[in-house]
Amino acid sequence: MKNILDMSTPSLLKKMRAWGEPDYRARQIWSAIYQQQVVSLQQATSLPSSLRQRLASEFILGNLTTITKQQSVDGHTLKVLFRLPDGKEIETVLMRYNNRRTVCISTQAGCAVGCEFCATGQMGFERNLTAGEMVGQVLWASRILRTEGIRLTNIVLMGMGEPLYNYANCLNALDRLSDENGMGVSPRRITLSTAGITPVIERLAHAGRRERLAVSLHAATDELRSQLMPVNQRHPLGPLLATCKEYIEITGQRLSFEWALIDKVNDSEEQAQALCQMLSGMLCHVNLIPLNPTDDYSEAPASQAAATRFKKHLERANIPATVRLRRGIDIRAGCGQLRSKRRMRVQK
Ligand code: SAH
Ligand code: SF4
Repeated sequence: MKNILDMSTPSLLKKMRAWGEPDYRARQIWSAIYQQQVVSLQQATSLPSSLRQRLASEFILGNLTTITKQQSVDGHTLKVLFRLPDGKEIETVLMRYNNRRTVCISTQAGCAVGCEFCATGQMGFERNLTAGEMVGQVLWASRILRTEGIRLTNIVLMGMGEPLYNYANCLNALDRLSDENGMGVSPRRITLSTAGITPVIERLAHAGRRERLAVSLHAATDELRSQLMPVNQRHPLGPLLATCKEYIEITGQRLSFEWALIDKVNDSEEQAQALCQMLSGMLCHVNLIPLNPTDDYSEAPASQAAATRFKKHLERANIPATVRLRRGIDIRAGCGQLRSKRRMRVQK
């Protein structure tokens, strides 16, 4: 059966016309799914029961099956492992802090980029998620919050996968999520994170989008970055940074850079210095995140003292930086970690 979350408004309208229904039915269905957030098509009681039956015989509302859920000890982070119809597994995380409710969604099952320190990269690539599979993850979080009478505020594409290698589906999903007749999440509250696929960043810069962009740097020299992120061999720092500058110029937006601080690997004075030079004068912000340890990567997170030193270095060069806490570390909230943990258990 087809996932109705994979339907855009025009395709739903076309379907209604094909079924001889009035045009407003498409709007009613849209509103039932994204505003009332019904959990089954049978529950869309604004529709006549014959239409509900017909919809339910042809479509399913979401295709994600929960395998496991884990809540952090502080209760601020809830992580879920979903199974897709073809047996692939993906993760979604709902985080609540700083007065924000943010859902972190996966864009692919696995990832081809293969960053050394990342649990998803260590798994390899399986497949792209459809727009509906991404939208379904956001609906999962939004429905939980609804039962508490609160709304989702932010969406980040920072779960499993590289969004810019699944460009069209990601943008279709984001269009659906920010539709004002639907969930209406403002694009300013949506962030796409990329490992730095230079030509696609360039394409995005010209696409007239309003979502925020974060670029994962993790190193300020090609030698170190290529070791941590093999994608750097294809898309090295020089052209990447030139494209980031172009992106800022075209969109007028501030860019975020992500830096996972790894003890004695990229937390040195030299790396901080090189980073300052690279980002000098750019409209940007640096997020410093102490490494989340993963099974297949032996390095450790940078110490608190090293993180503070690194941040101060950037600030002295007028580059705004924040050290992010490793939220939900007790539930392995780093991307791909819940799934790899389960795999390990299965193999034992
Ligand atoms: N593929 C995209 C988005 C998903 S990863 C990207 O790489 O940007 C989201 C962020 O988590 C990236 O900045 C990534 O580098 C970071 N990350 C992955 N594994 C991590 C780990 N073990 N510790 C800290 N950050 C990690
Ligand atoms: Fe893929 Fe991002 Fe993980 Fe790198 S950090 S392997 S790009 S998900």
